[in-house]
Amino acid sequence: MSETTFCKYHQQIPARWYCEQCGIDFCNSCVNDQLYSDPPQCALCNEALADMGCESAIPAFWHKIPLFFKIPLSLPSIVVMLVLLCLGYIFSWIPIVGWLMLIIAVPAIFFKYAYLTLQNIASGELNAPDLKALLDDNDYDIIFKQIFIIICLFAPMGKMLEVSFSLGIAWYILVLFLLPATVMVLSVDRSLIQAINPLVLASFIMRIGFSYLGLYLLIMIVSGGPTIIMEMVIGLSDMQSSDLSDYLYLFVFYAVLQMYFTLVVFSIMGYVLLKYHHRLGYEISAPVEELFCDQKKVPKIHPLLKDIEVLAKENRGIDALRRLQSRLPENANDIVLRLRFHKMLFNQKKFEVMFEHAPSFIQLLLSSNDKAMAVDVYRDCISADKSFSLKDVSLFLPLAEVMLQLGQYKLIVRLLSSLHKRFPDYKQIPDTYFILAKALSEGLDSDEKSLSVLNFILKNYPDTAIKPQLIMYRETVQKLISSSV
Ligand SMILES: [Zn+2]
Ligand SMILES: [Zn+2]
Repeated sequence: MSETTFCKYHQQIPARWYCEQCGIDFCNSCVNDQLYSDPPQCALCNEALADMGCESAIPAFWHKIPLFFKIPLSLPSIVVMLVLLCLGYIFSWIPIVGWLMLIIAVPAIFFKYAYLTLQNIASGELNAPDLKALLDDNDYDIIFKQIFIIICLFAPMGKMLEVSFSLGIAWYILVLFLLPATVMVLSVDRSLIQAINPLVLASFIMRIGFSYLGLYLLIMIVSGGPTIIMEMVIGLSDMQSSDLSDYLYLFVFYAVLQMYFTLVVFSIMGYVLLKYHHRLGYEISAPVEELFCDQKKVPKIHPLLKDIEVLAKENRGIDALRRLQSRLPENANDIVLRLRFHKMLFNQKKFEVMFEHAPSFIQLLLSSNDKAMAVDVYRDCISADKSFSLKDVSLFLPLAEVMLQLGQYKLIVRLLSSLHKRFPDYKQIPDTYFILAKALSEGLDSDEKSLSVLNFILKNYPDTAIKPQLIMYRETVQKLISSSV
C-alpha cells in the first residue's frame, strides 16, 4: 500500500488534489469543486489541479474483512432475505406458476439486491442499500446479462471434458477466476459485450494486479462458507430424522446462509471497485478519501469558502477578502458567507466597509434563526468605533428585543440612546423605549432612570397602544423605588 499524502492545511485528511505550480497537496475541503468546471482550480494560482485519486487513503480489502460480514447483517439486507424466504415458501405451494416464480423471480430479486449492494459500496457508501433502492430500480437487465455470461463461460466445459479431463478442470478454474471480473465489469459498464470481452477482462484484472488474486482467493474461501457450516450443523445434530420438516428447516437455513454469503462476496467486490476506481477509469465525485478518516476531524467548510480559507491560511487576506466580496452579490442571503466577510473585515480593520455591510447583515440575521448573531455584529461595530450608529430605524426595536432576551442591558442603553432625537418621526418609540425601561430596571438596577423613561413615554406618547402595560410597569418600578428607600 503506497503511503498516504495529507493535505497541507488539514494534516489529518488525505490529499486528493495536487497543484504542480505551487507544489501543494489539497484535500477536498480546500477545493471549490462547485465553482469550477472539471478539473477544479488551485485556490492560490488558479491552475488546474491534478486528481491524485484516493487509492492510498482506502485500506486494502483484507484489512476490512469484518466490514463485509457486517454489511449483510444490516436491517435492509435482513428484511430482503426474510421477504424472499417467505415469497419462496408461498410460491412453493402454487404448482407450475409458483414454482417458476420460485426459480426465476426470487433469485432475480435477490441478485438485483446483491448488485445494488455492490454498487452502493463501490460508490463510497459503506452500507447496504435500503429497500427503496430495490423497489425503485426495476432494471433487471444486469441479472439476465450475468446469467448469459455464466452460460457462455460454462457452456464449453462439457466439450472440454470430453477432450480431456484436465482441460475441463483447467477451464473450470479459469471460469471461476474470471467470474468476479465479469460481475465487476458488468456493474461498472453495464455492457454485456465488455463483460464478456476477454481483452477487457484481462485489462481489468491486470489493473487491479495482485490484489485481484487475493480477491479471488477470499471469494473462494467465503463461498465455501455455507457448505462448511451446513456440514458442521448436520454433524452436530447427528441427523437421522425421518421427519421431513427437519429437512425443510435445514433447507431454509441453507438458503439463508447462501444469501448471506453471496451478499458478503458482493460487498467485497464492491469494495475492491471502490478502492481501485481511479485505476479502473471511473470517478467518484464523493470525497471517498475521507471515508476512513476520523469523521470528527473532517472540516465542514462552506463550498464557497474553501479556496478563501486557503488564501487566508497563506496570509493572503486581501485576496481572500476580495474574492469573498465578489461572491456576496449572488449570495446575499447566505449567512455563513456574510459572517465570514464581516469577521474578515473586522480582523483586517477594514472598518468603513464593515460599517457599510453591517446594517443589511443585521437585518438579515434578525429575520433568521441566528438573531443572537445580530447582537454580536452590532457589538463588533461599536467596539471598532464608539460613535457607530445604525441608520436604519426599523432595526432598533427587533435588535433591542433580542438584546433584552440575551440580557445585554448595557448594549440596549447604548443602542437606544437619544433615539427620539435622532428619529423623531419613528412610530415605535414607545415600544422601543419600553424595552429600555425594562433593561434599566431589571438589568441595570436603575429604577429611577427606568421611571423617568416610563414617564417620558407616557407624557410624550399618551395615545400609545401599550399605555396600560406602561402604567402597570410604572407602578411596579415605583413600588421598587419606595421599598428600597
Ligand atoms: Zn485541506
Ligand atoms: Zn497552485
